[in-house]
Amino acid sequence: MLLSRVLPSNTTLLPASSRARAAPLRYHRVPVGGAITVPVRCRSALTIQARDAPSVIDIEPQPLKLLDRRTKLKIAVIGFGNFGQFLARTFAAQGHEILAYSRTDYSDTARSLGVAFFDNQHDLCEQHPDVLLLSTSILSAEAVLGSLPIQRLRRSTLFVDVLSVKEFPRNLFLRLLPPDFDILCTHPMFGPESGKHGWAGLPFVYDKVRIGDSDDRVERCHAFLEIFEREGCRMVEMSCAQHDETAAEIQFLTHTIGRVLAKLDLKSTPINTKGYETLLNLVQNTCSDSYELYNGLFMYNKNSTELIEKLDAALDTMKKELFDRLHGIFRKQLFECSGRRSVDAGN
Ligand code: NAP
Repeated sequence: MLLSRVLPSNTTLLPASSRARAAPLRYHRVPVGGAITVPVRCRSALTIQARDAPSVIDIEPQPLKLLDRRTKLKIAVIGFGNFGQFLARTFAAQGHEILAYSRTDYSDTARSLGVAFFDNQHDLCEQHPDVLLLSTSILSAEAVLGSLPIQRLRRSTLFVDVLSVKEFPRNLFLRLLPPDFDILCTHPMFGPESGKHGWAGLPFVYDKVRIGDSDDRVERCHAFLEIFEREGCRMVEMSCAQHDETAAEIQFLTHTIGRVLAKLDLKSTPINTKGYETLLNLVQNTCSDSYELYNGLFMYNKNSTELIEKLDAALDTMKKELFDRLHGIFRKQLFECSGRRSVDAGN
């Protein structure tokens, strides 16, 4: 039986794990002045706390954005690398409760972000997050999802992914997850570099692949999307297939050009033009993402193969145009010279 069912209504259950890292920072809701509750930080591994206990401990100094019970989510980030951490920072700043698991030990980073880090997937799943967010590399997504002990989650957990390709995780979720789980496929089309000054105006693509009809499931999905809306993202609802078709051009192409330019080892000079600066920025923007990410964009989007062939053909066409012109000029000069020589000889 669920412990919450037998405890008095003024009791809050707090997440704790026997194997969670030693005293990780956790954020809990504690009442302040009656109706309002705020997240507070504590290092205790307690699992039960009376809501009316005098326990306001170490309140976060940052301005708190208060979320009501319906919009505050417990989000488990699976894959706490570059992008997972980038997202978790904003999720936590909005007041959501964030848990994380990764194959690498990121407990120090997690602590600094106010995230509870777990080195064991079972422990994390037993915390019964509302949302499980897959943020691993595209190439490892199947292995990571396949190894998750999903039987420890609540049956209606919302699964979200942020992979840069969309048909692949959509099919993976539909194949590996039992029908009780909700599925939301998303792609925040920005990263730690392009979103370092905020997310306002940046595109966020999503596809509600499978969301149950009940009000709580619809509201949970809405609460997750609201995280990005609050930051001012441009919300774009689009099917996964449509995303991949479009993203091959705008994303794979951008990354490929950036990586091709990087091979030229371009240097900044005292006479940089604005156009050249744009190229340098492109190299910086694209190469700061992992090669694995780029490789995933190629391997897991069927439209990328066609695009790289088109790019190759376009470069050949450009070269042909240039050389044809050059030959045209040489040929003209050659005939003019030989014509002049025969006129001279005739004289
Ligand atoms: P990434 O290289 O694509 O992925 C790194 C993450 O994958 C890390 O959390 C890493 O875990 C995990 N990982 C890699 N191989 C693994 C394996 N064999 N087993 C378990 N975990 C493995 O770089 P990223 O930038 O962090 O991207 C994460 C996801 O977000 C990708 O799917 C990417 O397409 C998507 N995304 C990225 C951006 C961006 O701008 N970076 C933007 C939108 C979407 P450890 O760190 O623990 O090794």
